[in-house]
Amino acid sequence: MTLVVGIEGTAWAASAALYDTREESVTVETDAYQPATGGIDPSEAAEHMREALPTVIERALSAVPDGREVDAVAFSRGPGLGPCLRLAGTTARALSGTLSVPLVGVNHMLAHAEVGRWAADFEAPVCLNTSGANTHVLALRGDRYRMLGETTDVGVGNAIDKFTRHLGWSHPGGPKVERRARDGAYVELPYTVTGMDLSFSGLMSAAKAATDDHPVEDVCFSLQETAFAMLAEVTERALSLTGADELVLGGGVAQNRRLQAMLGEMCEARGAAFHAPEDRFLRDNAGMIAVLGARMLAAGDTVAVEESRVRPDYRPDRAAVTWRDADPGQSHERGVTTVDEPGGERRVRGAEAVVDLDPDASRVHKRRVSKDYRHERVDARLRRDRTVLEARLTAAARREGVPTPVVHEPACGRSASSSRGCTPPVSSTATRRRGTSGSTPSGRTSSTSGWATTPTTWRTTRWIYTSWKAVWSARRPTPTRSSRPSRAATARPAGRRRP
Ligand code: AMP
Ligand code: MG
Repeated sequence: MTLVVGIEGTAWAASAALYDTREESVTVETDAYQPATGGIDPSEAAEHMREALPTVIERALSAVPDGREVDAVAFSRGPGLGPCLRLAGTTARALSGTLSVPLVGVNHMLAHAEVGRWAADFEAPVCLNTSGANTHVLALRGDRYRMLGETTDVGVGNAIDKFTRHLGWSHPGGPKVERRARDGAYVELPYTVTGMDLSFSGLMSAAKAATDDHPVEDVCFSLQETAFAMLAEVTERALSLTGADELVLGGGVAQNRRLQAMLGEMCEARGAAFHAPEDRFLRDNAGMIAVLGARMLAAGDTVAVEESRVRPDYRPDRAAVTWRDADPGQSHERGVTTVDEPGGERRVRGAEAVVDLDPDASRVHKRRVSKDYRHERVDARLRRDRTVLEARLTAAARREGVPTPVVHEPACGRSASSSRGCTPPVSSTATRRRGTSGSTPSGRTSSTSGWATTPTTWRTTRWIYTSWKAVWSARRPTPTRSSRPSRAATARPAGRRRP
């Protein structure tokens, strides 16, 4: 039964909270910094922190019940804006000295994740954090949260805010985009997911340019549909990879009801539980710092004042998870998602595609599954473009003499479990080497013939997936200014983002 004061000061929110573990109640007091024009100015935000923190702390402390005393002071150590963090850190140290209680240094992004887990009472969820500067998918493995996917450039919130700044709208832009998107129609914008990483800067630039030719409502709608579908895709990949069946949401952008609806629909289709915490715990707030701080305190994870320097680049995968049992992470059961098919068959479930091994017909059958959560034009475009790209890569690899599967396009309707639409699946038959008897002309599709295959074919196909990358990158034309930025061109040093 403890009382923990939380102090949050990573960017715009000067916030203090009181968490009472006996009542499981959280009192949050926040004073938001509002830039007069443009985005967040770090020194102005720190000045706001200096003025506002004493008042919000006093209000939070007034909620201490009669006859009880505060047991610890928890504060955001990072990631965040240096000037703000230093101000909030100094305040927290002073308060812990005044009250003679221990100090707890909390990772702000893990607090976003853990407050959702606490509110939902989930055991081992995947967490999607969608903040201004930080956007990533986390899952616990061993004694750390692992970053399974992350933005390689700006966070989704900052991308939206930069788009609205271009339109002259005040900060923050997210709620305004959400309002205007209600009356919008879809226009095509770039969609960039690489494996489980995301990129938003090309999308943001294209959205800015699109306002020259399209109503702003349409661009807002399409910006949301595109960015949120990207987030839902990598999150589903993370669920599939870890075998987790729980998802929690964190970060200011997660207040967006369209994002919540998409993720809810994706989880429902997978049979996973989904929780979006109430808004006051999604945007930056000291309540989440106090909640995680209490757990760290119970685990003895406190910090001496002289070692409590703030860490502007504090990645969530750098913090040891001391407050809960390590996830064994070894179990095969937890490593895959399986579903029971109507015929009683159990199948491994991926995220975007379903692969069937069909030894009798000597082939591997791959289907890109239609996703109801995303806009139908985004869905159709993704499945078509990826199937075409895959066929092209296979052909290019074959021309280089790499053993490849033969790709053909079965008639529509062959892909029985696809819930809607009919994107031609890629069927991979036995691998062949160029010049061997019966080889397929380079780059042409062919129907399958009887070759001895699986499991050999499946192993080879997987191997070809990796060799494709080399073939394709060697042949890719030099990007032009108008093409999407490459990861290498847009990547910033890891861990320099603020929440
Ligand atoms: P955080 O740093 O976690 O507090 O998140 C701040 C970010 O959330 C800013 O970029 C806001 O524009 C964004 N945001 C706040 N409300 C919404 C909303 N309803 N829809 C989209 N983004 C939002
Ligand atoms: Mg945040």
